[in-house]
Amino acid sequence: MFAPLPDKPDHPALELEMLEVWEREQTFEQLRERNRGGPTWSFVDGPVTANRPALGVHTAWGRTLKDVFQRYKALRGFDQRYQNGFDCQGLWIEVGVERSLGLNSKREIEEYGLEEFARRCREVVVGSSEALTRGSIRLGQWMDWGRDYFTFSDTNIEYIWKFLKIVQERGWLYLGHRSTEWCPRCGTSLSQHELTQAGVYQDRADPSLYVRFPLLDRPGESLVIWTTTPWTLPANVAAAVHPDEEYGRRENGEWVATSLFPKDDFVDRTRGGDLVGWRYRGPFDDLPPGSQVDHRVIPWDDVTMDQGTGIVHIAPGAGGEDFELSKVHDLPVLTPVDESGRFYDDYGWLHGVSTTEAADQIIGRLAETGFLVEAGLYTHAYPHCWRCDTPLIFRLSDDWFIAVDDIRPKLLDENDRVQWVPAYMGKRMDDWLRNMGDWNISRRRYYGLPLPFYPCACGHLNVIGSRAELMERAVEGLDQLEELRRPWIDRVPIRCESCGDVVTRIPEVGDVWLDAGIVPFATLGWENPERIPEGYGTGAARGLTKADLPDHAYWETWFPANWVSEMREQIRLWFYSQFFMSCVLVGRSPYARVLGYEKMLDETGREMHASWGNTIAAEDAFAQMGADVMRWQFCSQPPDRNLLFGFGPAHEIKRRLLTFWNSVKFLTDYGNIEGFAPDWERLEPTDADLRPLDRWLVERTKQLVADSTAAYEATLTVDVVRAFEAFVDDVSNWYIRRSRRRFYSFDEAAFRTLWYALVQSLRTVAPLMPFLTDHLWRNLVQGGPASVHLAGWPEAAEPDPALLEEIAEVRRVVELGRQARSASQLKLRQPLRRLVTEGAPLAASHADEIADELRVKEVVFGEVEASELRVKPNLPVLGPKLGAKLGAVREQLARGEFEELDGGRFQVDGHVLEPEEVLVEHVGREGWAVASDAGVTVALETALDDELLLEAKLLDRVHEVNVLRRDSGLAITDRIKLWLPDGDLIERYRERLTSETLAVSVELGELRVERA
Ligand SMILES: [Zn+2]
Ligand SMILES: [Zn+2]
Repeated sequence: MFAPLPDKPDHPALELEMLEVWEREQTFEQLRERNRGGPTWSFVDGPVTANRPALGVHTAWGRTLKDVFQRYKALRGFDQRYQNGFDCQGLWIEVGVERSLGLNSKREIEEYGLEEFARRCREVVVGSSEALTRGSIRLGQWMDWGRDYFTFSDTNIEYIWKFLKIVQERGWLYLGHRSTEWCPRCGTSLSQHELTQAGVYQDRADPSLYVRFPLLDRPGESLVIWTTTPWTLPANVAAAVHPDEEYGRRENGEWVATSLFPKDDFVDRTRGGDLVGWRYRGPFDDLPPGSQVDHRVIPWDDVTMDQGTGIVHIAPGAGGEDFELSKVHDLPVLTPVDESGRFYDDYGWLHGVSTTEAADQIIGRLAETGFLVEAGLYTHAYPHCWRCDTPLIFRLSDDWFIAVDDIRPKLLDENDRVQWVPAYMGKRMDDWLRNMGDWNISRRRYYGLPLPFYPCACGHLNVIGSRAELMERAVEGLDQLEELRRPWIDRVPIRCESCGDVVTRIPEVGDVWLDAGIVPFATLGWENPERIPEGYGTGAARGLTKADLPDHAYWETWFPANWVSEMREQIRLWFYSQFFMSCVLVGRSPYARVLGYEKMLDETGREMHASWGNTIAAEDAFAQMGADVMRWQFCSQPPDRNLLFGFGPAHEIKRRLLTFWNSVKFLTDYGNIEGFAPDWERLEPTDADLRPLDRWLVERTKQLVADSTAAYEATLTVDVVRAFEAFVDDVSNWYIRRSRRRFYSFDEAAFRTLWYALVQSLRTVAPLMPFLTDHLWRNLVQGGPASVHLAGWPEAAEPDPALLEEIAEVRRVVELGRQARSASQLKLRQPLRRLVTEGAPLAASHADEIADELRVKEVVFGEVEASELRVKPNLPVLGPKLGAKLGAVREQLARGEFEELDGGRFQVDGHVLEPEEVLVEHVGREGWAVASDAGVTVALETALDDELLLEAKLLDRVHEVNVLRRDSGLAITDRIKLWLPDGDLIERYRERLTSETLAVSVELGELRVERA
């Protein structure tokens, strides 16, 4: 007996039940045990940042994809690693802690105390990692929970130290001095790849200022510049012009590029090159820094003529390109603001004012001193700090860099060997690798990887490559070294290996992407001589994980990853950092194949923002749609398009899944009535009494297995979903529909065939919908594997293409027949006399089924004369070809004066028209309804006679009686006595009336039914 199924599944309830069953039966452990020693398939999880209080639906998407492919490979018998990872350091964590403690600046953090601050950061990671684990388990993700990696472990840090030492030995590490993007709130520079993250560029209205710089040697004349960053004006040292563009002087003495002001009158015109060297008075020469500068005009080929005045204000201490120009033209560099973006003391009345606060004061002052020409507002996309949303500024900074030019060719070569899905993401990686600048790895922060750099006054840069080396060279402070982390590490000075002096560490910490990038080495035991059981959880990770630190042989087995998957944004982040580090360390890519995916938006296509109220908490989604429905939504998504996630699409998915549920329920309901007991040992029906339709469903099932295997191998879940949904349609709307009666009278071949199809199809989507499939499996399969997840991947014998194509053609004819019927507005229960179909010869042996489906008396395979061919010119194509002759051709086509040639071509008026040059339509002649598509045409004769009308009346009555049966609470198998008011029907159709309503008698009378 099957357990009776309710009318629809309660997804959340059955999922919670399934989680308990898996826990009780140790299903995942059994699966891993079974695959141990099998062929390996290596997946490396990208760490999720442990700073959130709960799992988000965005993260659930990626976790679903990871789980799907690990489950698929497990079904195929692959031995795998299931190590989950948490990202634990950096600004993500720090900013959250600062907010919770009410700290607003780096000074306040230092006053609070770095030890305590570090402990608070760790607490956030501990709490968040627990919440993320709970959410992931609820999602159905099978991972080795409890053996996670945490990037703040000392082990992880030591591996990065080792990497940095190798970088230094190759001569790629250097301290750069440059003007760089800077977050004044976080008090640190940012690297190029951080600016590529989503949300960094936001529209923002800034002041738009036209400012006059009076020329010292040309009385009454001035340069006019344009800027949107007033705070940079006190740092102005030069004005740049394009040497080859034309500049003009207005009557009022103002110089600008003439091409930007085409309507203005100019009293003098000359090339930019002639302006070079002119000296001018700076806008803030009344402040000490400006007063010492000799302001002059310099040439610059990159001055553009698309906005502004064609004269560019240059402040090398507050702009990246400006700084580069200062080196070329030997310009002084003024650094106006400190780490927190506030003006230094020597800026007089501006001292202590932030770059944003300064705008109004600066504009006011310029107006007073006569420098201001015009002030307005300008909206543009401006970079913001990806973590704290503060608008970024440019600031001079000393940062540590890894030079990339030497290794760039290797990176490009290796990327060519990676299989990227979708392919364009590989192209993006290639573009990035070609164009990226040196990697800025230092951050002036606290809770992060301590950069192991100890520069010495003697000129030697000491780089520590391991904890052991630190211990060996330490002068003091080892006894208090809780973790390899600030503040403890800063209290451990070492001896310079060159001169022997005592040197201290630089205060900077590392870019967080180093933390995540080292994962394929730190978690797999690269160059580690001996496995250390539970040895990974060191430093801050102590007590949080039981993960081993494996040995080098283990690394050899599991590196490189066969597959990694993250969202597109990670191309320049985690995909990049691990790729870069791996190419440096071992000269090859750390992964063979990547699945990237685009962004998640809400169901209307807007970004999700807490402040807009359109975010969905994973908790709510679990409770309201269920994890399987979420997973199905994630997996239905082509990875090259944004996912529009929400309850609306979830509702639609539930509706579609209900068709599948109903097919299973149909089998179990009738199976219970008829005593059907399937036998797992005889899964595939091969009985001699199979009918052609059964044989078709067996082949169709094999096709589903083959299609979904190909889709999984291509890492395209959307194709698994499409294959499954098409299959469910075939099962429900063809096989069951055509075979219904066989289930009312125990036809074992039908039961066995349907059972086989359902069981096999469950297996193909088990990785996508682990809960529902296992729930149904446990009901449908008795005496077989206890869980669908322990049943292995179904065998995929090649399906018989001829049989599949035959039924596909039958379904096409039926579908066109339905279209024709619906166009004719004849009701479905009205039988028709005749159907003619052309172009579907394979369907010929199924004429009876077609007739039955479409309620026609006769199906003819032959030429459709009932339709008239209408041919019109395809104007955009044919117009240019025929020119003036088009009119005549068009008229002849309209009159039907053309000849049909082979291959869809037509001869008209001496011209041969190709298929793409014409629009062809089959229109039903009077009395016929026609539909056609892709070479198949179906024509239905619509004329009705008395007999057809009477039969329609019969079918209406039968329908009415069956509704009455149901409403009277009769079971589907109950026999009835029937009374009808229609003498004509009883006389003509007594037998059909009884068989189609399960009546034992039919009498004339008021319409009613009674249990017999
Ligand atoms: Zn910031
Ligand atoms: Zn030294």
